[in-house]
Amino acid sequence: MNTQISQELFSKAQNFIPGGVNSPVRAFKAVGGKPIFIQSAKGAYLFDEDGNRYIELINSWGPMILGHAHELIESAIWGAVKTSPSFGAPTRREVEIAELICHIVPSIEKVRMVNSGTEACMSAIRAARGYTGRAKIIKFEGCYHGHADSFLIAAGSGAITMGSPDSPGVTTGTALDTLTAPYNDLQAVQNLVDANKNQIACIILEPVAGNMGLVTPAPDFLSGLRQLCNREGIVLIFDEVMTGFRLALGGVQELYGVTPDMTTLGKIIGGGMPVGAYGGKREIMDCISPVGKVYQAGTLSGNPVAMAAGLAMLRHLQANPQIYKQLETISYKITQGIRGSIEKLGLGYTLNQIGSMFTLFFTNQTVTNFESAKTSDTALFGKYFQAMLKRGVYLAPSQFESLFLSTALSDDDIKQIIWANEESLKEILS
Ligand SMILES: *Cc1c(COP(=O)(O)O)cnc(C)c1O
Repeated sequence: MNTQISQELFSKAQNFIPGGVNSPVRAFKAVGGKPIFIQSAKGAYLFDEDGNRYIELINSWGPMILGHAHELIESAIWGAVKTSPSFGAPTRREVEIAELICHIVPSIEKVRMVNSGTEACMSAIRAARGYTGRAKIIKFEGCYHGHADSFLIAAGSGAITMGSPDSPGVTTGTALDTLTAPYNDLQAVQNLVDANKNQIACIILEPVAGNMGLVTPAPDFLSGLRQLCNREGIVLIFDEVMTGFRLALGGVQELYGVTPDMTTLGKIIGGGMPVGAYGGKREIMDCISPVGKVYQAGTLSGNPVAMAAGLAMLRHLQANPQIYKQLETISYKITQGIRGSIEKLGLGYTLNQIGSMFTLFFTNQTVTNFESAKTSDTALFGKYFQAMLKRGVYLAPSQFESLFLSTALSDDDIKQIIWANEESLKEILS
């Protein structure tokens, strides 16, 4: 496979962009080799600058659930562009999308649109702090909530009670207000709450975690957190930036029947445009300016083009609930094929899957939290990634990511993926 133009672009990019990329994982550091520069995409396929075609299993990290350049989303975007791409003033579409989100996700009584998942999570914890008058938050090791200072704390490190920054530039003062617990460990959360009586503003988590590879909640984990938060007056925040409108129309909270106080959204909600949102109980959301005193704003928030894309996406998903069954079927076929090949070859593995998300971990331990995810053979994953890429299948360039399927995958694409998987495994094991 010739990737010369991509390589030239990457060399040039490194002169002008830190690491040559605008988001670190794109640099392929975790898997070796050089990143592919994408020129276009349609349906289930990406096309790179050298004209190679890849089957898409990331879909822009989730948003392209209908596949790329879907006619509905495209025409919505064109329609909005023609009437000026930004006003910085209220518009009809913002009312329509807010009403639709509140309808689809009943725990959201009011919602504020922002421009990214990072902004959504950052703003949600500010609102929770303003509402409770408390300073500390609890997050889970291996959960990602964007790159705001408060979240770059002990993401997977051993420090459990005392946060220490994961990144230079995050101050110790900020770190001290973020407490972390292992995912799926209710007792650890209870211990943190007991040690910090009446100081915890909120618990934020991915109710199905996708940012340490895919990890599902243990039975009673979500409901246990719900009960704990009720007892202690803590705001429970589900970060559904990844899972919202993907695992079910109403997200994990619909699927598992556990209701958070606040929800953060992103990815699919923008149909590929940069959008995030946070919402929840009326009394919490009414703490936000201009009703309340918690400040949060955005020049481009509720942007007309982004709202048009998001509305088209959400309306389509709402009108076509069979999409989720269709995705489940695609996911089942692919993961069954992968399991079959691996078992034939006798490799130890764990495959976590739910709906249209899955991760193949190169470990024979069950993966239920970041600690167990880290037992994966990441060097072997790197080889697997490259072997798949060579055979025209584009995976997430890290072991600690989920894959995201789209409805655009045909039976032939599925066969191609299963074939590439088997050949790649044979190659890396030989
Ligand atoms: C992607 C993601 C974010 C951050 O969203 P950005 O739009 O990249 O800022 C936050 N939380 C979760 C669960 C995510 O998957």
